[in-house]
Amino acid sequence: MAAVTPLYQTYNRAPMRFERGEGVWLFTEEGERYLDFAAGVAVNSLGHAHPHLVEALKDQADKVWHLSNLYDVPGQEELGRRLTEATFADRVFFTNSGAEALECAIKTSRRYHFAKGHPERFHIITMEGAFHGRTLATIAAGGQEKYLEGFGPKAPGFDQVPFGDLDAVKAAISEATAAILVEPVQGEGGIRPIPVEMLRALRALCDENGVLLILDEVQSGVGRTGKFFAHEWAGIAPDIMAVAKGIGGGFPLGACLATAEAAEGMKPGTHGSTYGGNPLAMAVGNAVLDVVLAEGFLDHVRDVALVFRQGLASLKDRYPDIIEDIRGEGLMLGIKAKVANTDLLMAMRAEHLLGVPAGDNVIRLLPPLTVTAEEAREGLARIERAAEHLRAAAQKSA
Ligand SMILES: *Cc1c(COP(=O)(O)O)cnc(C)c1O
Repeated sequence: MAAVTPLYQTYNRAPMRFERGEGVWLFTEEGERYLDFAAGVAVNSLGHAHPHLVEALKDQADKVWHLSNLYDVPGQEELGRRLTEATFADRVFFTNSGAEALECAIKTSRRYHFAKGHPERFHIITMEGAFHGRTLATIAAGGQEKYLEGFGPKAPGFDQVPFGDLDAVKAAISEATAAILVEPVQGEGGIRPIPVEMLRALRALCDENGVLLILDEVQSGVGRTGKFFAHEWAGIAPDIMAVAKGIGGGFPLGACLATAEAAEGMKPGTHGSTYGGNPLAMAVGNAVLDVVLAEGFLDHVRDVALVFRQGLASLKDRYPDIIEDIRGEGLMLGIKAKVANTDLLMAMRAEHLLGVPAGDNVIRLLPPLTVTAEEAREGLARIERAAEHLRAAAQKSA
């Protein structure tokens, strides 16, 4: 890396320069090809340079880029209607990122109780290992010390319980509780799914106590787990949901979805965003849904996921010294490593395969949802070679 950079030193960047992408492949300036099973951390849901998305963006670029929410914005009503028709929700607020979608979700839940005459109900229960973004409110919600340190007092009103501990959630609920906020499958936390029974129990608990259920599906949503949204596996619905990443396919787009009742308190003037729901984002979001909601697409995701699951299970059996466990749902997969996850990541990178590290010593595989069975097998072969190299290196040093 250059000695002097004009950029904030907030990221540990890998020394790779990609200039072009096509489907599941990324190409460096030198023309080397990498299999991209990171997909911008579950963002490039349809891979790189998907022709339908490129066309939608170019078309809109020729018409109008930005209007502001003072007017009707082309594509907003359409994308909003498609999202509400395909989900539990009645209302949508568009944002530019996941953290902003969460901010909207948090504000919506607090405002709901405020509008009902209970301003004291603003506490939100979250789970240890959570990740909800990097704004001041969302680092408080995530509760991770490493993200909170040095940024002044933690925003009040976030109560954290141990992951998956239903009794702790019950004990944390009080007259001050506005909502429970969880990721159906923790992403940054290490691909840790909340069991479907627990999601159902959380839903029931919310109903019993007049508490709203907020799901953070920023990473798990838009087909990633083989359902449009991950909570569908549990057969439950939230009151509010944050969406981003995959819905923009690489264009900055997020959304907060809510039932009409939950969104009741969000009157004119209570919330806003300059860029939220911008025409370019709407064009791309609608184009993403053209593909993801098309007949058979989610079947494809589930079919390829099976190829991954079987292949990874077999790798785990053959390399127990490298792979401890395989977890996740659909194409939101985690390899819990026996070695340091960063060592596995580097060994994969040496085989020109990209993954994403996560908590709990996990490497995430988040390939584009358009990945084919053949590309999945190619990726598995590369993971096998990486495991083989790690094993050989360990034996040499032993
Ligand atoms: C990425 C992520 C966020 C934050 O999204 P940004 O677009 O980075 O603000 C929030 N929640 C989850 C589950 C995420 O994976």
